[in-house]
Amino acid sequence: MHERNLNRRRLLATVLAGGVVPFAPGCSEASERDAECDADLQNALLWAVAWKQSAAEYGALCYQAYNVARMQLDTALATPHGKPLAVIADMDDTILHAASYWGHLVSMNRDFFDDAIWDAWIPKNLVTAVPGSIEFFRYCEANRVETFYVTSRDQGERSFELALGHLQHLAFPYADPQHLTVFRDSSDKSPARDKLAASHDIALLIGDNLNDYKRDYYVTDIDQRMALMERDRDDFGRKFIVLPNPTDGHWVRAIFGESEPAPTEENRRKLKAAATRNAWDGR
Ligand SMILES: [Mg+2]
Repeated sequence: MHERNLNRRRLLATVLAGGVVPFAPGCSEASERDAECDADLQNALLWAVAWKQSAAEYGALCYQAYNVARMQLDTALATPHGKPLAVIADMDDTILHAASYWGHLVSMNRDFFDDAIWDAWIPKNLVTAVPGSIEFFRYCEANRVETFYVTSRDQGERSFELALGHLQHLAFPYADPQHLTVFRDSSDKSPARDKLAASHDIALLIGDNLNDYKRDYYVTDIDQRMALMERDRDDFGRKFIVLPNPTDGHWVRAIFGESEPAPTEENRRKLKAAATRNAWDGR
């Protein structure tokens, strides 16, 4: 049997047996497009990243979020408030889009978030603005509503400098040290929220992770997280503006028990279990 066909049969047998297909180290040459190379097409990240990269619906959801934010800000501006108004925004996947990082990750045949590649990508300043974000924060600035950026990032001693650099690179309003908080050692943003609430009326919180709204969502049980979301259902689009993110966040932690799970066979099984938790039985 031709080696290419043999490899395809082995791949098919592996898939049918429920096994995990290994990723080929390099498949750039057309002559190497055999079954081993086809294995990288099994990457579990493909759908999510393709959606982020190519779906007009992704951009539309971002514009929708920021259009709703503007409507809510107008309401807040028209309502008597004792303290100055402020908006709190997360950074990654809320105002900053990391398309080239995710594309690179997939091109490297990685199917899980990779911290080392992320840390190498950050200083390259390849980040772009989430659709609608800059316009919204300029609108805030024009109405004298301060924006405070709060992020959990850890690129070592340069974390703050690099985060501020991204804000300034894209010319976001209030891109200065007084309006940026970087939590290197924790994803708990509540200290920043509590501190700001003492001096400002917080008109809106904006994020892609429900943990950007309340720490309650930092739990590792999917059903518990869903129940919290139902509890807060009236707040979405009112107090908290949600941006879409199908690749990372604390929804990942609820599946794997950690936010940045390792690319292991056990974790790929957990991912499949999450994807099939409400599956139709076929009858
Ligand atoms: Mg985020």
